[in-house]
Amino acid sequence: MDANNIQQRMQEIQKNDDVLDAFSKIVLGGKAGYKTVIEKKPIIIKCHSCQTVVDISQKFCHECGAKVEKN
Ligand SMILES: [Zn+2]
Repeated sequence: MDANNIQQRMQEIQKNDDVLDAFSKIVLGGKAGYKTVIEKKPIIIKCHSCQTVVDISQKFCHECGAKVEKN
């Protein structure tokens, strides 16, 4: 099989969703259906004003209303 044949085969294969699963198995060690989703870790920080743990996606502390500083 030469390189052109392989490329053609790959294009056929990529139309098939099963192959994505198989590929995920190879890449991710057995997690079929996982695909390429990367889990987002919620980032939590402490409010500089009241030390309440707040999610960094929040702009203001839900406890005291102080602005959430990212660093
Ligand atoms: Zn606060």
